[in-house]
Amino acid sequence: MLRTHTCGELRPDHIGQTVTLCGWVQRTRDKGSIAWIDLRDRYGLTQIALEEGVEADSLREQLRHLGREFVLSVTGVVQERYSKNDKMPTGAIEIRPTSLEILNPAKLPPFLIEDDTDGGDDLRLKYRYLDLRRTPVRNNLMLRHKLAQAVRRYLDGQEFIEVETPVLIKSTPEGARDFVVPSRMNPGEFYALPQSPQTFKQLLMVSGFDRYFQIVKCFRDEDLRADRQPEFTQIDCEMSFVTQEDILNMFEGLVRYLFKEIKDLDFPEVPRMTYAEAMHRFGNDKPDVRFAMEFVELNDLAKGHGFPVFDNAPWVAGINAITSAAYTRKQIDELMEWVKRPQIGATGLVYARVEADGVVKSSVDKFYPQEELQKWKTAFNANPGDLLLLLAGDENKTRKALSELRLEMGRRLGLCDKNSFAPLWVVDFPLLEFGEEENRYFAMHHPFTSPKPEDLALLDSPETIGQVRANAYDLVINGVEIGGGSIRIHDRAVQARMFSLLGFTDEEAQAQFGFLLDAFEYGAPPHGGLALGFDRLCSLFGGSDSIRDFIAFPKNNSGRDVMIDSPSPISDAQLKELSIATTVGGK
Ligand code: ASP
Repeated sequence: MLRTHTCGELRPDHIGQTVTLCGWVQRTRDKGSIAWIDLRDRYGLTQIALEEGVEADSLREQLRHLGREFVLSVTGVVQERYSKNDKMPTGAIEIRPTSLEILNPAKLPPFLIEDDTDGGDDLRLKYRYLDLRRTPVRNNLMLRHKLAQAVRRYLDGQEFIEVETPVLIKSTPEGARDFVVPSRMNPGEFYALPQSPQTFKQLLMVSGFDRYFQIVKCFRDEDLRADRQPEFTQIDCEMSFVTQEDILNMFEGLVRYLFKEIKDLDFPEVPRMTYAEAMHRFGNDKPDVRFAMEFVELNDLAKGHGFPVFDNAPWVAGINAITSAAYTRKQIDELMEWVKRPQIGATGLVYARVEADGVVKSSVDKFYPQEELQKWKTAFNANPGDLLLLLAGDENKTRKALSELRLEMGRRLGLCDKNSFAPLWVVDFPLLEFGEEENRYFAMHHPFTSPKPEDLALLDSPETIGQVRANAYDLVINGVEIGGGSIRIHDRAVQARMFSLLGFTDEEAQAQFGFLLDAFEYGAPPHGGLALGFDRLCSLFGGSDSIRDFIAFPKNNSGRDVMIDSPSPISDAQLKELSIATTVGGK
């Protein structure tokens, strides 16, 4: 090897040894009588010191030609530092060089390779290989690596087998939009990249693998957000001969193991909440339960007092933004504007403060005498200093808006501490959801999810079909959906019925999913599983909202890789070979 040690390794124990380090020049400083080079590699930083009259003048001359990010090999003797830096692991020693060799010079990087950089997002993505030299970014990828190893350890310990499934598969009409790949050998035909290995892992269960997992790339051609990338990674799992309870316990075990291994945190148990309860208490199927601020429904108290907004609204409810009574008029006006933003969609906001003496002052005093407002106070379990925030309107829309307001107040009140973690299983999701635009039902999870056996009869009538619950569950941590899964259908007839409910003719179902329906006739075991979003899990453990920070080479918000400049046009010759009509953009 070109080096004897790394730049993070040397300690006082090494004093007196001759060593060779290789790395990048973080910076050089020349104070006349003494000059320094900070040499960096993945493992850390080591100081090289050149003292006038001690180290050779020729070395000093060499130092003058070094720039940031030059790749250097340094041989020298480890020596105790005059002034130690106890913030650096190598801060008690330095190297007195006997030779310096430039392994490769470097152009001045387009942004500072420091923890706090001056580079904007686009520039850092274009030069991602330089951004990855920065400690915080590298640490994110180290965290990802550690999590991946811990996931493998746990699942391997539970007899899960890691199996790779194909990346070139078949486009299906359900779910998100597919990325497709033209097939040269089959003109006019296309593969699709998997949105998940769902059907393959189910087939592995039919094959008898019993417990499968894969840390796997999935592809969805959807509009991007901070927590979405066109290609992302899932921890994909499936088990045979299990109930929902077994799956929840197995993966609760995984979550507990990860928190213990990576963060040294103990979780007694992951609480469970039904979808219906989550919607009722928090207006959200992925509630952030780090804080309470639960919905209080106020139809009974609010209606019939002559306040038209409440009287005319189908649903009135609010939250108690505890300790916020000191909000100024200006702050409340600003909050009012906030709830009216199109993304939130409320038409207005009614507030009531509980003053120090317990008197409630509200924006609708005119309609509600103190005696009524005191009833509100009781309903909200409010104390002096609290601020009640009320919304009214169509129930579904208002629940959504109130949920957003609750999260916003949670953030403003500092209740969303990045270092506290509140996991939750949300269970009993509806099987189907109605698409108004398409005028048909869609599978809420996916078409392979099993209805709850006790709700099967509800499938028979159009009136009750929307009430059918599924054996489907999501893992939510701090209001982020970390993953989800279900017990699957393993019976051909039930699966065929499901396809028909989703609007497939028998022929279409056979053409799209015939392989699965057929497989169910060859001894399919009862099975179920889930997939956890690995990028999201990493960002959650890393205390960041952006999954991009935890992906080595991510795409930007337009789905572009600006480093390799992709997507990009392909030549007419390539298009022709793929039997795709040439385009104006082709080269
Ligand atoms: N394949 C599902 C998904 O990607 C997860 C599962 O049901 O296992 O959401």
